[in-house]
This record gives sequence, structure tokens and C-alpha cells, in this order.
Amino acid sequence: MARYLGSACRQCRREGTKLFLKGDRCFSEKCAIERRAYPPGVHGQGRTRFSDYGVQLREKQKVKRMYGLLEKQFRSTFFRASSMKGQAGENLLMLLERRLDNVVFRLGFATSRNEARQLIKHGHFTVNGRKASTPSMLVRPGWKIGLRERSKNVARITAALEALEGRSLPQWLEIEKTASEGSVKQMPVREDITLPIDEQLIVELYSR
Ligand code: SF4
Repeated sequence: MARYLGSACRQCRREGTKLFLKGDRCFSEKCAIERRAYPPGVHGQGRTRFSDYGVQLREKQKVKRMYGLLEKQFRSTFFRASSMKGQAGENLLMLLERRLDNVVFRLGFATSRNEARQLIKHGHFTVNGRKASTPSMLVRPGWKIGLRERSKNVARITAALEALEGRSLPQWLEIEKTASEGSVKQMPVREDITLPIDEQLIVELYSR
């Protein structure tokens, strides 16, 4: 599957906010947003005024990059969300939250969604006891996400779990660290996403 191969920090600088794409580095003073909080490129430090369309576009790009999707996949997720009952914007965020790569990241098995995606593709996880290697799989309440026996001592995963100590999990997930397994307690709700996202702008963009 195609994926973005450019600089992750450049994406944060373009959106003017931390997207937390690089794990521990995002919490350190090496973070590019801490050091150069202006858009990339030769005109990055000039004044930028966005039209309504520009504001909507930037919001969509921000969320898309945050969850690590490319345009085609993000757009099809949006149209799936709009065909569901309820508000399209909220549905979109819930579909993104339920992705297996996001859940692995939220459970603390990886320090970023990019890393979670790579670990899933390398076959380190099981879903309900069966090997799972599809990062876009949507989890449901009651599902169990676990580490495979051979992956319990992978340094990247144990380091990520140690880094999680003391951080709180979203209410819809729970983890049993000794068993190297997490589970989905319930469907996520809008309040579980504390990131500054205005999903209505994305709905307006795709409704043009
Ligand atoms: Fe974004 Fe993380 Fe890079 Fe900071 S270190 S700019 S939060 S990807």
C-alpha cells in the first residue's frame, strides 16, 4: 500500500501543530515545532491568510496526517462515515479511532501510529487470538488485541509499554500488561478524542 515517505516533522510544521508522528521525540525539545514553529519552505515565515476553503483544507489535512492516511483512503472513510446514522464528522473520527493501528498506539504497544502500523504489518499482534496484519481493521467492543508469544520481548514494544507507565488510557480501552493484551470495552465517543479537531470543517470541505 502506498504511504507518505517524506518528513513527518514537515507535516506538523505545515499544520502549525504537533501531530505526534515520531514518538518520544515529539515530547522532547528536539521537536521541530518547538524549534521552528512556522511553515516549511522559503515563504514559511511570511504572513499567511487562509480563505474559508483554505481553513477547511488545512483541518482535513491535519486529521488525515495525524492518523497517517492518504487522500483516497481518508476520502472513502469520510463517505463511509456520511452513510452511517448520526453526524458525519463524529462518525469519521470514530472510524479513525477504531482502526487497529490507532488502537495499538493508544494501548501503548507503539510510540506512534506509524510505528504501530509497521509492527502490525510485521505480524507482532493478534486480534481475538488470531494473527492480524491489517492496520485498517476496525475493532469492536469485546475484541482483544494481544502480542504474539514471539513478540513479547521485542525491544521497541517493551520500551513503548514502559514509556506508557503513568499515562492514562482512553476510557474505551483497557490493558492487561502482564498478559500483553488489551481489550476494547466499548465504542469510542467524541469526548474520548481530546485533540483539537473541528470535524465540521472537514464535512464542509467534502460537501462543496
Ligand atoms: Fe511533529 Fe513529533 Fe516532529 Fe514534533 S517531533 S514536529 S510533534 S512529528
